[in-house]
Amino acid sequence: MSLRKLLSRRSTLAFRLTLWYAGIFTVSSCVAFLLFYLLITSVIQDRTDQELMGQVNRFSTLLAAEGTKSVQNAAVIEAQAAGVKKVFFRLLSQDGQAFSSSTMAYWEDITIRETAIQALLHGSDHVFETITIAGRKDEVRILYAMLSPSIILQVGQTMETYSRFFDAFKGIFIATMTFLILLAAGVGWFMARRAVSGVEAVTRTAQKITGGSLEERVPVKQRGDEIDQLATTFNQMLDRIQVLLTEIKEMSDNIAHDLRSPVTRIRGIAEVTLTTAKSLHEYESMSASIIEDCDRLLAMINTMLLISKTETGVDKLACEKVNIAGLVQEACELFEPSAEDNGITLSCSVPGVSELAGDARMLQRMLANLLDNAIKYTSAGGVVTVSIAENNTQVLVSVQDTGCGISPADLSRTFERFYRCDQSRSKPGIGLGLSLALAIARAHGGDITAASVPNQGSTFMVTLPKTAPQDFLTRKA
Ligand code: ADP
Repeated sequence: MSLRKLLSRRSTLAFRLTLWYAGIFTVSSCVAFLLFYLLITSVIQDRTDQELMGQVNRFSTLLAAEGTKSVQNAAVIEAQAAGVKKVFFRLLSQDGQAFSSSTMAYWEDITIRETAIQALLHGSDHVFETITIAGRKDEVRILYAMLSPSIILQVGQTMETYSRFFDAFKGIFIATMTFLILLAAGVGWFMARRAVSGVEAVTRTAQKITGGSLEERVPVKQRGDEIDQLATTFNQMLDRIQVLLTEIKEMSDNIAHDLRSPVTRIRGIAEVTLTTAKSLHEYESMSASIIEDCDRLLAMINTMLLISKTETGVDKLACEKVNIAGLVQEACELFEPSAEDNGITLSCSVPGVSELAGDARMLQRMLANLLDNAIKYTSAGGVVTVSIAENNTQVLVSVQDTGCGISPADLSRTFERFYRCDQSRSKPGIGLGLSLALAIARAHGGDITAASVPNQGSTFMVTLPKTAPQDFLTRKA
């Protein structure tokens, strides 16, 4: 990947995840290396210190057994045996003056530290120090120790092992860290890309949808991870939007269709009257027809608005104690004449009182729509039965008829706005009655279900809770 491409991606989540991953990995590796380094160097220093202490013990024993001269000779021999550039010995008096030493040509820069002498004179067993000599690679570890109350031994040794270890460590550290950082960046980039690939798929789909293709869906990998959940939720949302858009389209078609007929009729009447009418009476009858058609249009538009307001909760519903049994009784009395006119028996079996919290006016409207349908779609000689059942929490109002019934295919769609079954097209209506009834039931926290057998009849069951739902009450407030 070119540097420019990499830079263009620096604001992406994958890039930042990779940086974090590589950063954490590098810091952890450095800490591990540091700990390892400290451990090894402390082991090396301990070993050097032990070797120096061993020399001091040998020289103490020699001094006690054979005297100062032997110690002086031993110092020269020991230094030559180990290498005069590796070890040196210096014998000091109490005032810190050297009175004997091994070959010191190589060690000229090494001074005698006054504070170390003082520490020994004040009771310390030994004093260690590490010094660096300018121009030399290896550090020198120095030990001061009392051989006797009047003789101090200063012994020094180059820390060659330490330097060798340090060089090797430096090489390994640089090589390993370079490899690890590259590996961490590679693995981090791979993992980050995998993690965000699902999100990118969602983004790509969203972009295609923005471009106008609502049929697109995000591929679900069936791994059950968060990305799958995101994709599934996104797809569900798209399904829902698609259904809603289809519904809106159908509804717009229906509205256009339902508005066109009366408007065309109004225009036709006006045109004919304008071109042919000669008397005031003809103009009056044109006005009456137009008012009638306008009223129908207004009723339709008002019902649509009412459904929308009821569904969205814009219109505040009253929340009062309602005797639903009383409302059902009143509705039946209201529709009794219409049923009689159509040769239909309207039977109403309701208890005297059945109370719930709700909006009486809206509930009346819901019952009227159901009863109107039952009478409208039942032929002469049929029976419409209205009944109420209740338990502690809800009331069930059932409107049953022995009418034309609804086919299974139509039954699932009867509550859609403007939907009218084929066999009912000859009857008056605009297909909004059941939508409004359902919106009112749902606004009360209830529901309406329908069961029907073609040519035998239909039953519409309204379930209403006795106590109104919380949002219903707040809407009222
Ligand atoms: P409409 O104004 O057409 O009655 P609705 O929304 O009230 O509109 O009803 C939608 C459709 O459901 C009706 O056109 C009719 O086909 C069907 N329908 C409703 N109630 C009944 C019923 N009781 N019996 C048979 N069909 C019914």
